[in-house]
Amino acid sequence: MSEIKKCITASCIIYKEGKVVLVHHKKLGIWIYPGGHVDPGEHPHDAAQREALEETGLKVELVSCGDITIRTNDAISLPMPFTILQEYVPYQTGAHLHFDLIYAAKPVSGELRLAKDEATDIGWFSKEEIEKLDTLDNIKQVLLAFFAKCKLAENII
Ligand SMILES: [Zn+2]
Repeated sequence: MSEIKKCITASCIIYKEGKVVLVHHKKLGIWIYPGGHVDPGEHPHDAAQREALEETGLKVELVSCGDITIRTNDAISLPMPFTILQEYVPYQTGAHLHFDLIYAAKPVSGELRLAKDEATDIGWFSKEEIEKLDTLDNIKQVLLAFFAKCKLAENII
């Protein structure tokens, strides 16, 4: 029996003025925050920013969700994700198990644009819109947890 493929992935919750950016993913057929596989040798937080730019047209700055900063000769703190999920993804070519580092981010430049090869729609969504959204439970729960921390988010984002 072959073992399930395990991957490190990075996602990005882009937040501004009470809304987050979601794309309607072509292959998955659902609304989802931008994200994807971390390339070999790539830092996960760089992957989150790269995927955000590729899928939304927005250049983003990550907001670290931790407040511990270590800097020594041989180690430094990296941006802390908002959360990390293990996700079972049933691709048609075979299932993957994703270890998804989900970062919080704010847009710093660029215009929202649709990446037509990967998505069919894009937009900004409020908490109320997300509550009614047709998507995976895990995505909805992450986003609602994010909005629940918005008081914190308003301070840091
Ligand atoms: Zn994968």
